[in-house]
Amino acid sequence: MQCDDDVVTTVTGRTWAPGSWRSYECSQMAVYEDQEELSAVLAKLSKVPPLVHHAEVDRLVAQLASAARGESFILQGGDCAERFVDCQGERLDAQVQLLVQMGAIVAAATGKPCVRIARLAGQYGKPRSKPTENVPGFGEIFSFKGDNINGYDPKDRKWDPQRLLQGYWHSAATLNYVRALQMSETFSEEMMAPLDVQFLSKSPSFASWSSVATAAKAAAAAPGLFTAHEAMQLDLEEALTREVAGKGFYNLSAHMVWIGDRTRQLLGGHVEYFRGIRNPIGCKVGPSMGAEELKQLVKILNPDNIEGKLVLITRYGNDKVEAMLPPHIKAVQESGIHVVWQADGVHGNTVTAAANKLKTRAYADVLGECTKAIAIHKANGSILAGVHLEMTGQKTVTECTGGCINIFEAMLTNNYETYCDPRLNYGQSIEAAFAVSDALLA
Ligand code: PEP
Ligand code: MN
Repeated sequence: MQCDDDVVTTVTGRTWAPGSWRSYECSQMAVYEDQEELSAVLAKLSKVPPLVHHAEVDRLVAQLASAARGESFILQGGDCAERFVDCQGERLDAQVQLLVQMGAIVAAATGKPCVRIARLAGQYGKPRSKPTENVPGFGEIFSFKGDNINGYDPKDRKWDPQRLLQGYWHSAATLNYVRALQMSETFSEEMMAPLDVQFLSKSPSFASWSSVATAAKAAAAAPGLFTAHEAMQLDLEEALTREVAGKGFYNLSAHMVWIGDRTRQLLGGHVEYFRGIRNPIGCKVGPSMGAEELKQLVKILNPDNIEGKLVLITRYGNDKVEAMLPPHIKAVQESGIHVVWQADGVHGNTVTAAANKLKTRAYADVLGECTKAIAIHKANGSILAGVHLEMTGQKTVTECTGGCINIFEAMLTNNYETYCDPRLNYGQSIEAAFAVSDALLA
């Protein structure tokens, strides 16, 4: 058996290249029947213009470093699975508005800038617990793996490489509009004027939240949203990786990319790809992560020990965070590696609603995990730099229960539109921004 540091030395001692992941075992990726068609798609993708600029990527590293020091706070969120059908102006207005309003609330409440990262413009590939599922009338078919891979319609579940190109065009259209919104002179006004917190009037904190909202609206909302997605399909990510002279290789399809909890094997293809790119990278950390394993992982993923480079996105569950987070904080402290701690309050808190068997999450569990994480970091000589949520700017979505707006299980069928995990809706997300801010100040 290899001793711990052997694995680290073995991996980091190997030559990295954008395609070196190909000699490793890769979980969760789609594999294609027609290799010629795939090659043609990847050849095209390797020539298309980058979606982001490498200087923006470097700026995000610097901003994440400031968040890790407690000088700012990161708010990352968006759909679980972004859908091609949602690539529409009004939908994007709502999604950007939500992130900007939440960021303004956190900034006004804490007095610190908020780094806003959208799960947007490329969040089209999903790892799944099972590769196939049984759908009545269709039998055992491939599970939906995101619009980049196959369609949600049971008739459309074949893995199709043309979708990778479709994903690029949808990302480009999305980002083009998001950039246009931010460049307009009326950006701040358009984003903040609609914020109305009257729907939170039943909260015992309403008076203080109202004054925070007033302050948030009075401060001009700045542009500067970043984009991120889970880089699951590595042949796609490799094709969108570009060498920047004198600097190295950047994945220029997003500012930040992250490794999912199901693809973070030390000797897996995902860790191999991620260890060599210059972007800030996230890595999900769930209940199955061992403390020693985490020590090795941070050494592999942040070999030059750069501040703001590696974001550990913890997602244990509201009932597990108190037991699991402290030993992970200790392991990272012992490793001496800089990390940016982020709490994903959603992925450890998914349950099945008894009433209708829909996947859901309770607002109280989501906020419980985030607020506990803030306190646990403080108590362990560490800093929680941000939160990570699945959320939608759509007001009428009913996918998560609870919150001041009090969605209960029987209401989930009213407007359950996600193709994957349940999202906090607009009202629940705005409330979360206030509640997280309160916990940061506590
Ligand atoms: C996700 O972020 O949508 C996801 C699949 O999370 P995790 O990898 O933590 O399960
Ligand atoms: Mn999800």
